[in-house]
Amino acid sequence: MEIQITQDLVRKESITPNDAGCLKYIEDFLSERGFVNETLTYGRVKNLWSINRKKGPLLVFLGHVDVVPTGPVDEWEHPPFSGHDDGTYIIGRGTGDMKGGIACFMSALARINPDELNFSLGFIITSDEEGPSRDGTVKVVEELLKREEVIDYCLIGEPSTLETVGDNIRIGRRGSINIELEVLGKQGHAAYPARVDNPIHKVVPFLDKLLSEVWDEGNEHFPPTSLQLTNISAGVGAHNVTPNNLHLKFNLRFSPQITGEEIQEKIKKFLEERGIAHKISFDLNAEPFYSNPGTFTNVVQNSISQIQGFNTGLSCSGGTSDGRFIAKTGCEIVELGPKFETIHKINEKIEKEELERLTDIYHQILLNLNEETNN
Ligand SMILES: [Zn+2]
Repeated sequence: MEIQITQDLVRKESITPNDAGCLKYIEDFLSERGFVNETLTYGRVKNLWSINRKKGPLLVFLGHVDVVPTGPVDEWEHPPFSGHDDGTYIIGRGTGDMKGGIACFMSALARINPDELNFSLGFIITSDEEGPSRDGTVKVVEELLKREEVIDYCLIGEPSTLETVGDNIRIGRRGSINIELEVLGKQGHAAYPARVDNPIHKVVPFLDKLLSEVWDEGNEHFPPTSLQLTNISAGVGAHNVTPNNLHLKFNLRFSPQITGEEIQEKIKKFLEERGIAHKISFDLNAEPFYSNPGTFTNVVQNSISQIQGFNTGLSCSGGTSDGRFIAKTGCEIVELGPKFETIHKINEKIEKEELERLTDIYHQILLNLNEETNN
């Protein structure tokens, strides 16, 4: 069933923010299983909030149906929205990120009777995760908080696997900040150094400081904060002219040991200390989050071990995810999904066997959580 659902979803061309009928497809599936559906629309983005309410705690499955653009279509071995089955893999944009994960959870749900569960089950599915993420999960969570909806556990089906399904699960993510700097100088003739103010020379000691700075040491679950320069440009194209200004772009992935504010303050200080005339802008596009492992993390780890026969550690690696928004509800979060190796690439694909195993694990999670909430 998970293979069919993956193909059905991949065949809908849902490039952000267009859900292309994916939400209706999921909604129909959930309606048949006693869920109450609600579409929450913000701007051009449709989001699905669906719930099967019982007495016990609430587990929410969080996902997104939007996908990134395909890139050059003729470089794909099979059309990116064909959901082609080559015997081993299903190929297509969104197979791994993250229609496959959604399909597996739907399929796991079909194996049980949600009305016999000791806990409530909900879905938040957005169509704005790959894009600006302004009208998606963030808004749904705001609305649910306003309604005083209590979410206890959240399972995110984002790709997390390294090699074998379940070998890597995440309980947090690093933050991300983009910085654009313009170093101001004065254009002049290279032969008259006293009459120029060369922004390239001025930026060198600053770059040196930036690249040697230890921002923090990370912690048990997070690697230390890291910085990457992503663009540097200056010059007018002539050998004998020094430029008026220099543009620099860089990005930091940061742990919860430092805040976005603290990073901004430090960078401003480095510039001031070196007397560098500049213009700077900061875009804090994601705060880090960390979810304390408890009952639900335990259930997930046990389920993986039952199906796969190995123990899985906890990680906080990778880019950012919508987990940062749902973290505001205070729920316990685990991200568990398929391999992330081919996501966002040409020929994105997912192994059929991987879909089957992930469904088995999700199913086991539902069974084990049911046991847990029975006590
Ligand atoms: Zn994703």
